[in-house]
Amino acid sequence: MRISARVLFLASATGIVAPALAQRGPAPRRDVPILIRDVTVIDGTGAVARVHMDVVMRDGKIASIAATGTVPAPHPDSVIDGRGLFAIPGLIDAHVHMGTGPWQERATAMKAALMGGITSVLDLAGDSRATSDLQRAVIADQIPGPHIHYIALLGGPAFFTDPRVLDASRGYTAGTAPWMQSVTDTTDFAHTIAIAKGTGATAVKLYAALDSATVARATVEAHKQGMKVIAHATTFTALPSDLVAAGADMLTHTPYLVWQGSPRTPDFPSRARGDFFGLPADSPVIEKLLMQMRDRGTALNPTLWVFDMQAADSVGKVRSPWMNAVTRRAQQLGVRIVAGTDGLYNPRTDSLPILHRELELLVNGAGLTPLQAISSATRNAAWAAGADAFTGTLAVGMNADLLLLGADPVADIRNTRAVRVVVQDGKIVRQP
Ligand SMILES: [Zn+2]
Repeated sequence: MRISARVLFLASATGIVAPALAQRGPAPRRDVPILIRDVTVIDGTGAVARVHMDVVMRDGKIASIAATGTVPAPHPDSVIDGRGLFAIPGLIDAHVHMGTGPWQERATAMKAALMGGITSVLDLAGDSRATSDLQRAVIADQIPGPHIHYIALLGGPAFFTDPRVLDASRGYTAGTAPWMQSVTDTTDFAHTIAIAKGTGATAVKLYAALDSATVARATVEAHKQGMKVIAHATTFTALPSDLVAAGADMLTHTPYLVWQGSPRTPDFPSRARGDFFGLPADSPVIEKLLMQMRDRGTALNPTLWVFDMQAADSVGKVRSPWMNAVTRRAQQLGVRIVAGTDGLYNPRTDSLPILHRELELLVNGAGLTPLQAISSATRNAAWAAGADAFTGTLAVGMNADLLLLGADPVADIRNTRAVRVVVQDGKIVRQP
């Protein structure tokens, strides 16, 4: 009783009147069109905010975006008063791991992520049986959560003793699970990539114990079969520049770029402890690498938060400023930056999904502008997930995945936390 009263009060206070649409129906249906009237639109492309706009959503898509008052309200019961609100695309965390852990814990994290503004994620390795089960549960409206896109992992034989890999491959001999295959430079990649693709993955992830010849062959075949290639920024022994030259679409973890300045080594367990003293962030080696990434269209997935968590330890003290400076320089040079957390949601540290903290670090640590940071977590993240044709920007014809914020994220990036309304596929899944 008290809860209903509160909801009604907030709904009338903000002018939001769409109670029937908040329900996620079990069967597909055609939605009543929704008009968001007089809202400020930040479309995810990096373009400046447009004030006093009307946004119409119909059948799960954005039907129009036009100056306020130029489009008649499609239905009197479906108008959201957008005054004082800021529309941005639904956020996309392009580095999560949802394929391990108890089902209930993962379902809880999925719901919290969606309510906190994450409408899609890119999962970068786990047990794909579990990941795709979660993906399907969201599509089938069995649980609320972000839409999941995921990868299949490739690694060298030496990597298949890692306990996380063995856990994610239960039931298979290590290195033979379709989503986690062991490969060498003599592998039949046409076969291997076809198996990887059969898991439902949209990309392969090159992880560790892979030399430059192997990453080159894997990348050519993955592209031939229409899959993106995402790689740890060093795969031991392949260096970052080998991965860029091979045509990888995205390198993950900015600190791993430091290995460009070290002799080739197979020592992948040392990946987070490179020579940050010996190779300063502004060294010509890094400058050349970042320019190579820009010229080849290789994106960077910095994952600042996961390293920031250890910013105070002896390695982190040097690594964190290095990572921030290199991420900043990458953005300045025109490398595509793709936001991701390597975490999604951690109720022990934050009631909101971690991506809000990552955005704050991208701006206040790595020096991106708020608009650049928002693009990194919307348009660019959708691109990495292979989903940019239908989500990640606010434009006519795109899926209606958007957030209404109660404060201006361009004035202060921390205002992405002021999530008032979440719309996924044209359905209001959160309202005040
Ligand atoms: Zn990760």
